[in-house]
Amino acid sequence: MIIDGHCHVWDEESLSKELREVIVSIAKQHDFDPNLILNGTPERLVEEMDEAGIDKAVIVALDYQYLFRGKVSYREYNDMVAEMFNEYPDRLIGFAGIDPRRGKEAIQELERCIEELGFRGVKLWPLTGFYPDDMKYYPFYERVEELGAVIFCHTGEGPPRTYLKYCRPVYIDKIAIDFPKIKFIMAHMGKPWTDEAISVATKNPNVYLDISAWEPTFKMVPFAFFQTLVQAKLSCGIEKILFGTDWPLFTPILSLKKWVRGIKKMKLPPPLQLMGLPEFTDEEKNKILGENAAKVLGL
Ligand SMILES: [Zn+2]
Repeated sequence: MIIDGHCHVWDEESLSKELREVIVSIAKQHDFDPNLILNGTPERLVEEMDEAGIDKAVIVALDYQYLFRGKVSYREYNDMVAEMFNEYPDRLIGFAGIDPRRGKEAIQELERCIEELGFRGVKLWPLTGFYPDDMKYYPFYERVEELGAVIFCHTGEGPPRTYLKYCRPVYIDKIAIDFPKIKFIMAHMGKPWTDEAISVATKNPNVYLDISAWEPTFKMVPFAFFQTLVQAKLSCGIEKILFGTDWPLFTPILSLKKWVRGIKKMKLPPPLQLMGLPEFTDEEKNKILGENAAKVLGL
């Protein structure tokens, strides 16, 4: 089973002016037409999943409203994502977007999303301006733990106009220790703090890494990608590495189909081979592509 552990969804109508600008700026940064990523509908996602042979994908809602004004409220965004995964119940899995700074309201929305709407977990977006390990949010995490939900947290660099300093992987370490029953997925392997992310995932049995947003590196600086991936495998173990894309943000650079094929066919670059590092076996590739995520998500 192939699982894309990290996708975004939106329809252009519901995007606020600011979020639209952020998406456009990602396209400008990588020099492609923004129209290629402004269409984030589930219909398009499922079509591209079919082309790539991806069985299931995680779609995340975003609560960005402490940083950007929204055209739709964060609750409406969650409702929209719930509608989408209900349309494709065998293909799409939802993560709710909830900012823990909302206090009691965050806990209420968490309960509504997990218990009533059928979300599998919650997505944290600290790049909007909060440290995830602040003890103010512990009542929220206690409820996450009780509900058996998974936490999916952005780590590492984000788009322009978002705050980098809150996104260090080390801010997951303390909550991973204090809430050992919660599984934490750190998006993007914490890039550029990959050493730190791998270290947090190595010392905490409940912390995982996803390789989403590494498509440009894979395509343009493959050595850097493989070096990090091998380091992760040897340090925290292959079970901790999850496939992901950040769809549709990097699709113009590398399609879902090419990214899946890239992992299936990956071979270490000659310098790493010469150093005697072991190739990824088919078994290990299958773990990255879906078996690990299936376990984390309880599928
Ligand atoms: Zn993302």
